[in-house]
Amino acid sequence: MQFKNLKLVDYVVYGRGAFNQLDEILAPRRKDNFPMIFFLDHYFIGKPLAGRIPLRGKDKIVYVDVTQEPKTKQVDALAAELKAEFGEVSGIIGIGGGSAMDLAKAVSLMMTNPGSSADYQGWDLVKVPGFFKVGIPTLSGTGAEVSRTTVLTGPTRKLGMNSDFTPFNQIVLDPELTKNAPANQRFYTGMDCYIHCIESLEGTYLNEFSKSYGEKALDLCRKIYVEKTGWDEESDEQLMMASYAGGMSIAYSQVGVAHAVSYGLSYLLGTKHGIGNCIVMNHLEEYYPAGVEEFKFMVEKNKIEIPTGICANLTEPQFDEMINISLSLKPLWENALGSNWESIMTREKLRALYNRL
Ligand code: NAD
Ligand code: ZN
Repeated sequence: MQFKNLKLVDYVVYGRGAFNQLDEILAPRRKDNFPMIFFLDHYFIGKPLAGRIPLRGKDKIVYVDVTQEPKTKQVDALAAELKAEFGEVSGIIGIGGGSAMDLAKAVSLMMTNPGSSADYQGWDLVKVPGFFKVGIPTLSGTGAEVSRTTVLTGPTRKLGMNSDFTPFNQIVLDPELTKNAPANQRFYTGMDCYIHCIESLEGTYLNEFSKSYGEKALDLCRKIYVEKTGWDEESDEQLMMASYAGGMSIAYSQVGVAHAVSYGLSYLLGTKHGIGNCIVMNHLEEYYPAGVEEFKFMVEKNKIEIPTGICANLTEPQFDEMINISLSLKPLWENALGSNWESIMTREKLRALYNRL
């Protein structure tokens, strides 16, 4: 048995108002005259957070457009622009949801690794460390702050750059930053965390390491979405830690059916990760009966709309494309259904599932 030697984030600061320590945290990481580049989610244009960024010298804020999920082309263009302007940087700080954080990870890596980010979509293809990188979530749930991947849509696939060089060197977990997120978005991204827990805890890759984090994250999700009515400061704090623990859980196991199916939707239709997972989870009674029942309860209790009928007008070649993308995610299926997964999740079965979404 070969056990995974898991690379973690180097430094973690947690607490309401921790963002105020950013200047101090970055100071020892500043190299010569090279700037810190802040990738700020474009939602924050003109918002107070933009004015709280500790700019020094040639530092720069780059507002990143996350209307669509990160693409390899976008990463390559950002890396090329920064190389042309500065040569090197002292660091890249991603501030936003999973999309802005993933862009920061990927651009940091592509400033030091040759070629296109599309060349590195896969497992352990990155060979050179990137520049110092920091993740600061303003939405909780994806676990992107702790993961060893940055999920990119490329010319032929949606797949992360999974490597030991991908995790952040530093994360700043400040629950105050998530307080104004819109209720629907917060739910979709929060459910990403809930689904990570179900897929990890119900998977064949489960072990005590994953289980201890997954159970804690699930417990926090339940406190927020099942037990409480309404949102309060404590909910921001709980969901931020649920995201962290859920991310740690899948880091040592794997995600499952909802993710494998939603990657196909996202590749073909551009469906975003959180909502895509919810659309799929709504139809997974066969695989996660208790989880889906509780998921539906939370949807209803929190008065959230989950879209339906999104595959209604697709052509047969489009179904084929989604099925190909989905079935290529072998570890996800193996975790969900066991080593015999190919005889369980046939193309026909997956076609029927996509049809129901
Ligand atoms: P997101 O980053 O795509 O952001 C969703 C929307 O919320 C955007 O419009 C953004 O501008 C807005 N937003 C962000 N913070 C806000 C705030 N505080 N207030 C108001 N609006 C705010 O959403 P997400 O669900 O956090 O991330 C999804 C992305 O993360 C996908 O690209 C997915 O592929 C990726 N992901 C990565 C990992 C990983 O391990 N690297 C894991 C899961 C998902
Ligand atoms: Zn996810």
